[in-house]
Amino acid sequence: MREPQPLCGTFCSVCGEACDFPTGLNIGDTRCRICRKAHPPFDRAVAYGSYDGNLRDLIHLLKFDQVRPLAPVLGRMLADTIRALEPTLPPGTIAIVPVPLYAKKKAQRGFNQAEAIARAALKCLARPSRFERRFELCGGVLLRSRDTESQIGLSRRQRRENLRGAFSVCDPTPILQRNILLVDDVYTTGATASECARVLRRAGAGRVWVATVARTLKIPDVSAVSSAISSATSDDLSWRQSRDDNGELASVS
Ligand SMILES: [Zn+2]
Repeated sequence: MREPQPLCGTFCSVCGEACDFPTGLNIGDTRCRICRKAHPPFDRAVAYGSYDGNLRDLIHLLKFDQVRPLAPVLGRMLADTIRALEPTLPPGTIAIVPVPLYAKKKAQRGFNQAEAIARAALKCLARPSRFERRFELCGGVLLRSRDTESQIGLSRRQRRENLRGAFSVCDPTPILQRNILLVDDVYTTGATASECARVLRRAGAGRVWVATVARTLKIPDVSAVSSAISSATSDDLSWRQSRDDNGELASVS
């Protein structure tokens, strides 16, 4: 299996969406059209790679086939991304908050993939030791109080409405006035990250950043395109299309 490649290209300085800015030009504002219209409730979202090809397969194997040894593999990628983000974060300890799963889904799966990946990333970040106290896992802070229906086929606005009220903060004490790094496996439209950041900030958190292993890109970068083409067979593609981000079966004829 070809190793997933980190993103390369030009990306929105807020949400991380691929942008077709002319390269080599100092255009000043590097936000995408959506972030220019309304800044999301987080400072910045970063991801290791494009949610495509082998990276998408690895995430699916962990989530839907419970191949737990893949958590450290994906955790290493997340750690690389967090290391690159770290110099831009404010001083002090950053609280790592994994996006929670609905309790019933977590019981079915046996684990929360976001938390497993976050734990694995933190192990990597403990070396070098200067990062040891820089990040601290704050699991169990956020609660997903209801299952959100499959988000597939929903518009950005519909996704946002679908998630309203789905998350709450159980105990605000560990996050009060603290800066947060929200961690998830995949960033799709940012609706989940935005809703979690909004709820965390309303509960008293400081600023929020977002780090994910993968993200969907409207303009795929060159490495993502070549990887998708080289690895995809028609069987592969129908399998990929048969499950959405929440693991629900989508109708595939
Ligand atoms: Zn953006």
